[in-house]
Amino acid sequence: MRVDLHTHTRASDGTQSPEELVEAAAAAGLDVLGLTDHDTADGWAEAERAADAAGIALVRGMEISTRLDGRGVHLLAYLPDPTYPPLVALLDKVLEGRNDRVPAVLERLRTVGIDLTEEDVARVSGDAAASGRPHIADALVVRGVVRDRDEAFARLLNPGMPGYVDRYAAPLRETIEVVTAAGGVTVVAHAWGRRTARIPDAAAIAELAELGLAGLEVDHQDHDERARAELRGIARDLGLVVTGSSDHHGTGKVGHDLACNTTAPEELERLLALAADARRAAGRDAPEPLGL
Ligand SMILES: [Zn+2]
Ligand SMILES: [Zn+2]
Repeated sequence: MRVDLHTHTRASDGTQSPEELVEAAAAAGLDVLGLTDHDTADGWAEAERAADAAGIALVRGMEISTRLDGRGVHLLAYLPDPTYPPLVALLDKVLEGRNDRVPAVLERLRTVGIDLTEEDVARVSGDAAASGRPHIADALVVRGVVRDRDEAFARLLNPGMPGYVDRYAAPLRETIEVVTAAGGVTVVAHAWGRRTARIPDAAAIAELAELGLAGLEVDHQDHDERARAELRGIARDLGLVVTGSSDHHGTGKVGHDLACNTTAPEELERLLALAADARRAAGRDAPEPLGL
């Protein structure tokens, strides 16, 4: 059984529709696909229909932008009730922060002589729940300012670069609690990426596990072998689920082909058992995995 639990569509910053993503996942030989657009469940309904038609199992989720000790942490949330009011409010605030950032970034870019308009960004963001830096990057590619998204981030959009502007992200601890109360389970995404500090560190991960964190995404392209080995050890010590995923963005992110990393079936089983527990404890009509 091949399982990829972290992917994006045009509902956030991927380049495929949910249907196209599901079809590509089936064609790549995956048995289980996790759909985790940034801060939104907008792609779920279309993905459900497509998964049913393609005969592939679907785990609905999202990747929430959070903050811990002043640093950004991406938190994967699987199977929460997306109508749970505190979760809706939390996601609205994150999406609003993302949208508000666009004009601020464009203003900064103007100071270095790059004249991009909000219309340029809207043209490439299409169906996305919010416009964000990846869309600004795409608009810069269209304009011929940079070659691809990676160059846009490296030269202009990352912290320390002329177009960088900070934005709201939800407090990590609170987000874990809200997702749990919504009947879902949480996994820290690419915790120790190459370009980021090791936040959360081992001590912080232990504390998050106490709060209800279910797992760590260990096998991810941003992790070198050493980071993977250390994170695997931390997960084992704390009894956390270990996941592996592509973080596929269609053609929006190079080197993240579907199934380039996968999650072991027994780890998926543990994650889904925890989700079933959370669903019961929350007493909410949280979604269940489809086709499993
Ligand atoms: Zn991420
Ligand atoms: Zn992602």
